[in-house]
Amino acid sequence: MVNLLLKHIDHVVAWGGATYDCSYIYKPKDEVELKKIFEIARTQGLTIAFRGSGQSYGDASMNGEHVLVDLSGWNKIISWDSSTGEITVQCGVTIEQLWRKVISSGWWPPVVPGTMQPTVGGCLAMNIHGKNHWRVGSFGEHVIGFTALLGNGEIVSCDKNDSSGLFHSMIGSFGMLGCFLTITLQLKKVNSDSVEVSSLSASNFDDLLMIIDQKKGCDYVVGWLDCVASDAIIGRGVVHTAMYLEAVEYENDNLITRYDLPDKLFLLPYKYIWIILKLFNHH
Ligand SMILES: Cc1cc2nc3c(=O)[nH]c(=O)nc-3n(C[C@H](O)[C@H](O)[C@H](O)COP(=O)(O)OP(=O)(O)OC[C@H]3O[C@@H](n4cnc5c(N)ncnc54)[C@H](O)[C@@H]3O)c2cc1C
Repeated sequence: MVNLLLKHIDHVVAWGGATYDCSYIYKPKDEVELKKIFEIARTQGLTIAFRGSGQSYGDASMNGEHVLVDLSGWNKIISWDSSTGEITVQCGVTIEQLWRKVISSGWWPPVVPGTMQPTVGGCLAMNIHGKNHWRVGSFGEHVIGFTALLGNGEIVSCDKNDSSGLFHSMIGSFGMLGCFLTITLQLKKVNSDSVEVSSLSASNFDDLLMIIDQKKGCDYVVGWLDCVASDAIIGRGVVHTAMYLEAVEYENDNLITRYDLPDKLFLLPYKYIWIILKLFNHH
């Protein structure tokens, strides 16, 4: 049952913290409720946007004074075949849920963003890139198929062979053509769950680009720029590279705890680090 609009008005903040709005927020429990929300929006003359984990830096997952559908509860893994690496998930499954499910069988998402909070639906809607973009392309290139609810209320099933063009149109469309419901991905096989990371410093932008070019044989490459540097040292920074290691044996291995990040830096809990960082970040 979808309730009346006014009950749903709530405040939403974008990940970057600079944009906030009030929207009619709905958390449909299934496709039937989602269809009803589409109908309500249509009859009330309101637009609809979706929100996975709200990890977009700007306002992509905001829709001030209109309808915002929160899909974070649609987080079930529907099927997983560890012999082929094919996985089907609901759109609200996060990248973290995905890799935690598959890593112990030697699989990994071919494209991951710099945080594991985004949902698969959000990653597909924005067709995100990883730190291996020149090797494997973007997220959408690893999608076998999906189901989606279109603006006209129709539920469609699309795959790469779809001749209507909808498959390629919906990937990277910011959710403006409809809502992804379930997504089937082809994961990639990895030799191990560990990478060897190198850090190289670059004295200016040309140097940074040269290093990135030289390191194209690595599995992952990312450059971090010092945005305070100017004049001759503009673009100075650090390049991180990563290569998968061959299978690693761990003593007394406990997969779950080994993958958890520490919750403290020295004695300070990570959740308070922003207070210190704020001293160095300003407008
Ligand atoms: C620390 C950090 C690091 C990041 N690193 C990277 C990176 O390396 N590479 C990169 O490309 N991006 C990166 N991002 C951006 C992030 O990966 C994308 O913005 C991603 O889309 C967020 O997913 P989400 O589930 O939070 O989507 P949201 O931010 O909630 O929504 C994003 C868009 O997707 C639409 N959408 C969400 N779910 C659906 C659905 N089921 N159907 C249709 N449309 C939908 C929304 O309407 C909205 O337009 C990073 C973000 C952060 C905060």
